Amino acid sequence: MPIAANLARVRERIAAAARRAGRHPDEVALMAVTKTFGADPIGEAHAAGLRLFGENRVQEFAGKAESVSALAGAEWRLIGHLQSNKAARAAELFRGIDSLDSLRLAEKLDAAAQKLGRKMPVLLEINLGGEISKSGLDPHSPELEELLLAAPQFHALDFRGLMAIPPFTEDSEGARLYFRRLRELRGAIAKRNLPSITMDELSMGMSHDFEVAIEEGSTCVRIGTAIFGERPQVR
Ligand SMILES: *Cc1c(COP(=O)(O)O)cnc(C)c1O
Repeated sequence: MPIAANLARVRERIAAAARRAGRHPDEVALMAVTKTFGADPIGEAHAAGLRLFGENRVQEFAGKAESVSALAGAEWRLIGHLQSNKAARAAELFRGIDSLDSLRLAEKLDAAAQKLGRKMPVLLEINLGGEISKSGLDPHSPELEELLLAAPQFHALDFRGLMAIPPFTEDSEGARLYFRRLRELRGAIAKRNLPSITMDELSMGMSHDFEVAIEEGSTCVRIGTAIFGERPQVR
């Protein structure tokens, strides 16, 4: 797998998309999504300069954490749905959680992070398309509002922004509307100046639509396939 070459190409495309939108390429973090991939490709990506990594299952990452623990400066974040009974394990394994989607999970994560004596950055995952097959908070739900207002009670959580996976469309342009909605939701929340809430981060964009996401304001694109190739269909 020509990971370094793929990565160079992805970086070029990120820079071009940022420039088109009048943004600086450094405003967009590149997260390598490593689910289903083992220590070798991950090590290659690290050698090519990547430091931010995303995994979507606690169990899977628990199985490989040891094998990637020597990668200097690597930061791991959880980007998949987290059951609250795994919150404590997730807090041990991950630097941050980009898929916080319920009040109950916030409580569990806060307790776990406090126990570990650390502050944990989190993003609120928003379900933009109202898809029942996906997790994430409905943007108009009372639960999102409750979470935003309860943030100051969660002393160990640092609410930094929003994350979303829009409904899949063949054409990446189809995602634009959803990316725009997420940006607007972030703006609306930021404007309220709620205590303990900052809204600097907007995690959106994957292999097939990251350029559109950057044009719409993404600060972190989560990319698997375009770096590592197709995932094995074993899961
Ligand atoms: C797998 C995954 C990605 C990366 O998807 P690609 O299409 O392979 O780039 C991004 N975000 C989440 C939440 C994922 O689960």
